[in-house]
This record gives sequence, C-alpha cells and structure tokens, in this order.
Amino acid sequence: METQTRRVALAVMAHPDDAEILCGGTLIRLRDLGWDVHICTCTPGDCGSTTENRWQISSRRTTEGATAAARIGATYHCLDERDCFVCYDKTTLAKMYDLFRRVAPTLLFTHAPRDYMCDHEQASYLARAAAFGHGTPNVSHFPLLPGTCIPHLYYCDTIDGRDPLGAPIQPTTRIDVTDVLERKLEMLACHVSQREWLQAYHGIDEYLDSVRRHTSQRGTECNVPCAEVFVQHRGHAYPKTDLLDQLLGGL
Ligand SMILES: [Zn+2]
Repeated sequence: METQTRRVALAVMAHPDDAEILCGGTLIRLRDLGWDVHICTCTPGDCGSTTENRWQISSRRTTEGATAAARIGATYHCLDERDCFVCYDKTTLAKMYDLFRRVAPTLLFTHAPRDYMCDHEQASYLARAAAFGHGTPNVSHFPLLPGTCIPHLYYCDTIDGRDPLGAPIQPTTRIDVTDVLERKLEMLACHVSQREWLQAYHGIDEYLDSVRRHTSQRGTECNVPCAEVFVQHRGHAYPKTDLLDQLLGGL
C-alpha cells in the first residue's frame, strides 16, 4: 500500500533520549513541515542513575522525555517496560499494537535491527511487528483510525555507526540536519539527569559533544556540516518509496 493520507511520524525507541540522539533532527524537520510527531520509549529509563532508585529516576526521565518532545510540539509515550528487560513477548506486543492503533503512523522510525544493546534490537522488532500487524482486525481493542496503513519504516543509525559485529551501517537515506542541530541539542539537553551523570563521569559535556561529533561525521560523508542517516525497510508489504528523501530532500 503506497497511498497515504495521514502525516504522522512515530519514533519507537528503547529508552528516553534515544530518539533525540538518533533521529531528533529529522523529527524536527518533519514537525516544521507540519507533521504530527510522536516519540515512544519502551522503558522509563529506570536504570539510568547510580544514586536514585528506579521509581525516582523513572519519574525524572519520563518527565525529561515529555519535556523534550513538547519542545518541538511532539507527544511522548512510554510503554513502561524495564531497562535491560525489553522483550518481544505478548504483553509488550499488545501494548505496542494499542499504541499504533491510537497513533496510526505513516512514517516510523526505530532502532537498527542489529544494534549494540538487546533492548534496542527488541524495540526494533516490536516496532516492525506492530507496523505490519496493527491494521489487522481484532489485534487491539482500540478502533482503527481512518488512514491506518503500514507505515514507511526507517531504521536509525547506531550510536557509533556500526553493527554489533563492527561492520559499518550502510545507509539508504541521508538527511541534512545542519539547520536544526541546535534544536536537536536543545531537545537532548532536556535529559538533564543523563547529561549531569556523563558530565560528572567525563568532566566534559560528553552527552552533547558526542552527538555533535557523530552528526558531523555523518555530514562529512555527504558534504554537509551535519546529517542523520537511515536504512529503509523495504521488505514485502512495506512501502518502498523513499518518503523521507522525497519530503526532506535526501543527500
Ligand atoms: Zn537506548
């Protein structure tokens, strides 16, 4: 199905801040085009602190995620799974189907199917499954919204541009995020708990600096100052046209 009427983008990631790091600039550009943007994390980031218990840090981090999303007029969702326990199982999949029924995305971002952390891989698999299955009858109690379809699916870059065996990611789509880099970093800076932790650990603002370095590296590969890259899922039944390239003028 290639005809889409809705302009709704959804990023399904494992943890709070993954979306800002891996596709934040592209989400901002879509928002600027008038798209509805949603960010969902599988967990509330409950293992993201060395000093706070899981309830305290979860509360902080979901607030940070919602604040970052609100900064660009996006909506934040959390499936309330647990860090290091994200599983492709019936209960998590049911939550994912319900989310997709309510959001009905036409453009979907998730982690690379092979990534350094298993939470990321499981989130990717859950998102891919929900993309295919959420339109089928009886899979969720939430009604089908008009325009529900299998979304264009893009896998984000990995944190170091490599798969878990060290092979470089081969992007299909490259998006210039030079003009929105500062807004991407402002979104990321909303994750105060993680920025402070890394700052204390490294003694420098590694949280923002590492993202600056990686987007700059990706930009260098396509002759712009800053870029984000993606791999489009082009398997059977999924839309195969490069919608991101068409919308944002891929490099
Ligand atoms: Zn993560």
